[in-house]
Amino acid sequence: MLVSLIVPCYNEEESLPILYSALCDVREQVKDKEFEFIFVNDGSRDKTSSVIKDIAAKDKGVRYTIFSRNFGKEAAMFAGLHKAKGDYVAIMDADMQDPPALIPSMIETLDKDEADIVAARRVTRKGEPPIRSFFARTFYKLINKMVDVEIADGARDFRLMKRCVVDAILELDERQRFSKGIFAWVGFRTKWVEHENVERVAGETKWNFWKLFAYAIDGIVAFTTAPLRLATYTGFFFAAAAFLYIIYYFIRAIILRIYDRVPGYPSLLCFMLFIGGLILMALGLVGEYIGRIFIEVKRRPLYIVADEESED
Ligand code: UDP
Ligand code: MG
Repeated sequence: MLVSLIVPCYNEEESLPILYSALCDVREQVKDKEFEFIFVNDGSRDKTSSVIKDIAAKDKGVRYTIFSRNFGKEAAMFAGLHKAKGDYVAIMDADMQDPPALIPSMIETLDKDEADIVAARRVTRKGEPPIRSFFARTFYKLINKMVDVEIADGARDFRLMKRCVVDAILELDERQRFSKGIFAWVGFRTKWVEHENVERVAGETKWNFWKLFAYAIDGIVAFTTAPLRLATYTGFFFAAAAFLYIIYYFIRAIILRIYDRVPGYPSLLCFMLFIGGLILMALGLVGEYIGRIFIEVKRRPLYIVADEESED
């Protein structure tokens, strides 16, 4: 039985050797399984490529894909899933934040058929800036209100899956991928293993606040059209309010014969600005979805491969 371990790597020259030796330990420990390690180099600017090639030259169990440029972690994970031949497939980060030591027990869980997916989840966000944790928590609350599937807070992309799950994920070959949602969407029995937050061993995180913010918007727009409905409701609310206001003025002028002596310039301006803003926002929202349709219909490949290990 073959187990594939997929590692997306972007500028990980320092962490990779550490991860690789940890993975070798796992391979030693789990004797009854064969392993393939799949490293996907996502257009790193450092020596990640040559580190991977050096490892692969010495170890037959290592396969790799080198992208022609940086396509993002989602594309790298997808490439890895495509390439993986294993009956069990795991995705893990290169920086040791996904403890390789968990893998043997994860394999055991699948062997015992207790679940189809074993996924890791951080129970603490220790070592993370508090503001980042706050926004992350808010995001999960928000997205879970809007989408039908449960997207777990603290869930990482680290998970071991059976073949059937991988095949289901590969069916969803959309361009704008939000894996946390895709993993939840395909379903199957998931068992969660919890662990403390681990800080990366070397290098630095590739995420800053704005990247995460954009990722959050991507996640929401990719999985639900609820924001569009919100725009509809808001529009409806204001139209109704305006209608009542018209009736009020009508009665005032026609029946009560009260006329304004002071022209209501400031209030008018406020309303116009406010409603103008809302219209722009709704338009932008519609644009988000149209933009995504545009990108989806082009059906460009998710990544371009520059180099791969030679099959022999
Ligand atoms: N990664 C990638 N492409 C990117 C950014 C990140 O393949 O454009 C990989 C990175 O090498 C690492 C994993 O995705 O293995 C997670 O990245 P990182 O540790 O920076 O994210 P964090 O753990 O801070 O969420
Ligand atoms: Mg990390």
